[in-house]
Amino acid sequence: MKTIKGIKVAPGIAIGRAFVIDEVALPRVRRRKIDPVAVRDELVRFEQARKEAIAELNRVHAHAREEMGEDPARVFLFHIGMLNDPAMLEPIRKKIEDDLLSPEYASAEVIKSWIQRFQKMHEPAFSTKINDLVDLANRLIGALIGRKLIEFDEQPDGQAIVIAHELTPSQTIAFDRSRILGLATELGGPTSHTAIVARALGLPGVVGAGELRTQVDDGDLLIVDGDRGRIIIDPDEETVEHYRGLMQQAQEFDRSLVELARLPSVTTDGVEIELLGNIEFPDEASNVAERGGTGVGLYRTEFLYLGTDHDPTENEHFEAYKRCIERLDGQSLTIRTFDLGADKYTQMRSEKPERNPFLGQRSIRHSLANLPMFRTQLRAILRASALGPVRIMLPLVTSVHEFRQTRYLIRDAMEDLDDLGISYDPLIKVGIMVEVPAAVMLADAFAREVDFFSIGTNDLVQYTLAVDRTNERVAALYQPAHPAVLKMIRMVVRAARSKKIPVSCCGEAAGDLEYVPLLIGLGVRTLSVTPSGIPLVKRLVRSVSIHQCERLAKKAIQFDSELEAGAFLRDRVRKIVPEAFEGRAGED
Ligand code: PEP
Ligand code: MG
Repeated sequence: MKTIKGIKVAPGIAIGRAFVIDEVALPRVRRRKIDPVAVRDELVRFEQARKEAIAELNRVHAHAREEMGEDPARVFLFHIGMLNDPAMLEPIRKKIEDDLLSPEYASAEVIKSWIQRFQKMHEPAFSTKINDLVDLANRLIGALIGRKLIEFDEQPDGQAIVIAHELTPSQTIAFDRSRILGLATELGGPTSHTAIVARALGLPGVVGAGELRTQVDDGDLLIVDGDRGRIIIDPDEETVEHYRGLMQQAQEFDRSLVELARLPSVTTDGVEIELLGNIEFPDEASNVAERGGTGVGLYRTEFLYLGTDHDPTENEHFEAYKRCIERLDGQSLTIRTFDLGADKYTQMRSEKPERNPFLGQRSIRHSLANLPMFRTQLRAILRASALGPVRIMLPLVTSVHEFRQTRYLIRDAMEDLDDLGISYDPLIKVGIMVEVPAAVMLADAFAREVDFFSIGTNDLVQYTLAVDRTNERVAALYQPAHPAVLKMIRMVVRAARSKKIPVSCCGEAAGDLEYVPLLIGLGVRTLSVTPSGIPLVKRLVRSVSIHQCERLAKKAIQFDSELEAGAFLRDRVRKIVPEAFEGRAGED
């Protein structure tokens, strides 16, 4: 028996036999020169292959949508986007025309150069993109040489656990899903395609598990523990029994959570803690109320970029916001303007990727540097505000000036809409994410101007501790319980309270049971979390008093070391509310 640790990306436990899949590599293409007189024909051939690949991707997308749902299918739209993207096409055509290289070789070379660019960035977040490019190269070159992309030549013969280096989107759609119980990969992170697919299909999943295929043979008995991020190879009987017990416990627990959706989110001493949902796609808005939330506290609009090769049009924005509003049925929607840059979309398209994109032109800086794009989004949000309660939230604000500039743009957009007789909410609230130390230190100044704060602990921890949130090498240093972070949260809450503006928390910590009492104790009364996390948080809220939370926070903030603070929280929260952890996935 051997246990391998990885990143837990989809909850649940699976016990089954390993089905090990070969790594997909870039297709090997020989360098072939073409005759200058054949250039035109070769360009036509490239164009035909490109169109064929796009037609095939459209079919695959429709199939994936039907089989797995909207989110996992979207990656194929993204592939189509790349096949329409001049930044990809022009260099290929140039190599055919100017360097007289065959379309196969030209395509392979250009895609390879993109891959090398991402490899140089050494960001785990880019490994997903490399995987997409490998998949795309196989499809495009396959179309050029008239060979269909071979995903699998065989399927598992029983109920299997798929083990792979990293699954490409084409592989995941080629599965016979009725034969798969769980997924585990060597690469990948929480937002990798494998993770999205595992969650969408409700399969337990662990990614980023390092050397896996050298240790697992086809047919080995395995346990994939998606609650704890473990893969157990060749478990003994006792371990299998233990896990079977956990599986049964989890089923009972899930049933009990459904009932919670209807109950109010109040502490034992009657204080309401507002629970909202974080969403990436409009359809997810329906999950929020279903899970017992009362609105969307963070809509990450940058996902509108997934699957397109252009900036979304005003109508594309508007339609997405309208869909959210319809699904929310009167509950409020906080739309965050584009949080582009860093690992989100812009680097891929950029001619010159930034050397340090996490400190580069990202988020509000990117929007203010691309005014037509920003104005389009603001106008669409304003139009949507006529349909239901909407708020605007700005990401990664570091300077009051950025907020003022945006306010000015919003006023400008309102005047345009007035001229056109288009309605909007003239009192729309505009707030900021507090996710860099500069915004914390200036919280008093911001509180005089903005309508609300939302603390984004994911980035606040990253920028306060100088720890890249996507880099597993420094994952152990990423500590939301660090005293510096706790003091920052307290400062923000105090500033908000003194100016009587609402303050929420929408980072991952808001949905982590160990941090929820702490955040409440520090004065946060609104938590915005992944919709599926709402019931667990609600159950905890209903078991604690404000007094208990305040005592806990007062003590936690006194530690000098994050290790002590972390250990204190882990221990104390379980003592105060053991029932919140009972039967909870992820607990031993
Ligand atoms: C955050 O930084 O805490 C946050 C919620 O935003 P994102 O995770 O989208 O960066
Ligand atoms: Mg953030």
